[in-house]
Amino acid sequence: MEINLISDTVTRPTPGMMQAMLQAEVGDDVFGEDPTVNALEAKVASMFGKAAALFCPSGTMTNQIAVKVHTQPLDEVICDEYSHVYQYEVGGYAYNSGVGVNLIRGTHGKVTAAQVAAAIKPVHDWLPISRLVVLENTCNKGGGSYYTLEEIRPISRLCRERGLYLHLDGARLFNALVETGEAPQAVGELFDSISICLSKGLGAPVGSVLIGSADFIRQARRVRKAMGGGMRQAGFLAAAGIYALDHQLERLKEDNERAKKIGAVLQERPYVSDVRPVQTNILIFDVKPPYTAESFLQKLSTYGIKASPFGPQTVRFVTHLDFTEEMMERVIEVLRKL
Ligand SMILES: *Cc1c(COP(=O)(O)O)cnc(C)c1O
Repeated sequence: MEINLISDTVTRPTPGMMQAMLQAEVGDDVFGEDPTVNALEAKVASMFGKAAALFCPSGTMTNQIAVKVHTQPLDEVICDEYSHVYQYEVGGYAYNSGVGVNLIRGTHGKVTAAQVAAAIKPVHDWLPISRLVVLENTCNKGGGSYYTLEEIRPISRLCRERGLYLHLDGARLFNALVETGEAPQAVGELFDSISICLSKGLGAPVGSVLIGSADFIRQARRVRKAMGGGMRQAGFLAAAGIYALDHQLERLKEDNERAKKIGAVLQERPYVSDVRPVQTNILIFDVKPPYTAESFLQKLSTYGIKASPFGPQTVRFVTHLDFTEEMMERVIEVLRKL
């Protein structure tokens, strides 16, 4: 049995999803004439109670477009030091938008309103202008930690009072919402823009959606084209996204549950020194010497289990649609044996 815990991006379309893709009605989306892309965008915008949405090839692109539209060169983006926007987008904020980042050292990737307030710079000729705050929910490098609406509300209020935009990197937002039971609409009210990934836990092969006001999305469409992200018969991919939202959203709860069960086993293993709190479908833990992340992963691979190194002693597991109950039992059996 091949078991892949590298990421929730490794999933293949389910038979139902494949069927939906094959049957998609398509057109040229650069001309706004792909009915399936239009349907996906309308569906997601309405889910979040926003005016408009934009289908993009990746979550990196949706985040980068948001930074570009919300900022001017010489502005700065306030975010946690673990943020995807800072860590894993090739420094694109500087390249695409000519902005800097002002990093907050939060808790498992999460920041508080007080921390954001302290990070906002006064206005002087010699300082960058604090223009945009980016929150990540769930936070990947934070071990899949999530914010509740209660925690976001004061940050949203602060941004409005101080005239900063607030963007949500919600690549795995639904992994959080199935835990908290909160509605996407309530999330929509707190942010100027939101990015969600269809290609992570939701199980679509490609795609992310950027959500915001009509004016924001009008500008975002132009930036997407400039970045080379205007796709033609993208409806085949959008159909997978619609199918994922309709059929594969509630089941994210299973991924979260399986991660928690594995986390509980890791917690009691003598070769593990720390397991970050397991809140959703990501597990980050440290292995003790003589193991290193590399040697531990090498060992796991002899049992057909693949995962990612996340530091010299740190390993990441991500559960997903193609990681079954049977695979979970096998992983637990192997972890107990090591
Ligand atoms: C995966 C991910 C993204 C976007 O990644 P792409 O691979 O470009 O789609 C953005 N933010 C977070 C937190 C992610 O995990």
